[in-house]
Amino acid sequence: RAQREGHGQIHYFQPEMHQTVQRRVRLEEALKVAIDQEELRVCYQPQVDLESGAIDGLEALVRWHHPEWGLVSPGEFIPIAEETGLVVQIGDWVLEQALAQLACWRSKGYPLRRVSVNVAAAQLQREDWPRYVAAVLGRTGVPAQCLELEITEEGVLASLEETAETMTRLKGLDIRLAIDDFGTGYSSLAYLKQLPVDTLKVDKAFIDGLPGVEHDRSITEAILAVAGTLGLDVVPEGVEEEAQARWLREKGVRLAQGFLFHRPQDPEQLAPHLNGVHPDG
Ligand code: C2E
Ligand code: MG
Ligand code: MG
Ligand code: MG
Repeated sequence: RAQREGHGQIHYFQPEMHQTVQRRVRLEEALKVAIDQEELRVCYQPQVDLESGAIDGLEALVRWHHPEWGLVSPGEFIPIAEETGLVVQIGDWVLEQALAQLACWRSKGYPLRRVSVNVAAAQLQREDWPRYVAAVLGRTGVPAQCLELEITEEGVLASLEETAETMTRLKGLDIRLAIDDFGTGYSSLAYLKQLPVDTLKVDKAFIDGLPGVEHDRSITEAILAVAGTLGLDVVPEGVEEEAQARWLREKGVRLAQGFLFHRPQDPEQLAPHLNGVHPDG
């Protein structure tokens, strides 16, 4: 009987694992053609001024509409793209779309200061990448200070020396640099001294607990203190409730991002919200 139970257990897990592997393989195959088949889109989530509610910048977020499976979340396909190297092609495509879109909006008079684009470690590890980014900026006519590149702590630390050098070259072009999902990746802050970073994006995991959970309050306060000491901007992510926004405002935080203000949206959906966003331009 025990044997049969053991046997049964194996049978219980095996098909599930098989399905997971199969889904991965199918996603990977489908992702290879997604760009050419125009299945990818870029949507934009505003970063707002906590005092005025004005839109300060936008984060570009890739979306994949598969013809049969519908929307596949980046949380699922970006890790696969990272493992297969496809993330370089996808990320470069998003960068080009985002800069072209910002150029288009600015030419129509929408006073947007900035677009933020997520960057994978594999992109940073390419020797010619900063030159490529400079070329895209040149082609679209977007000033370098209007581009912010978001790199996760994990991505930075994948190969700190190489990454630091590339980031220094990007900074030399006047591009802004942000550390994404800050607070989740590493236990030491020493690496920040080596990097020419402008912005820390506080991970949603800590914002979720504000203002009630003491642990999340302490960590957020510590991040704000570090940012203050190093002269960095802070953008809390995943702000969903007014009480969170109020607490952050009281701590002197200027910008934030989250569903409370705006969800990520298509350019067409977003356009009406961009009017007169910055009277002081
Ligand atoms: P991220 O860069 O940290 O982006 C923030 C994520 O939080 C986005 O998820 C956004 O939709 C979501 N979010 C923002 N505000 C809220 C909120 O108030 N509540 C909740 N529940 N979620 C909120 P998304 O678009 O699913 O992207 C997930 C991750 O996929 C991104 O995290 C980023 O790491 C990655 N990603 C997305 N686009 C790209 C890309 O073009 N290149 C690379 N390399 N990674 C990307
Ligand atoms: Mg990001
Ligand atoms: Mg993040
Ligand atoms: Mg994230």
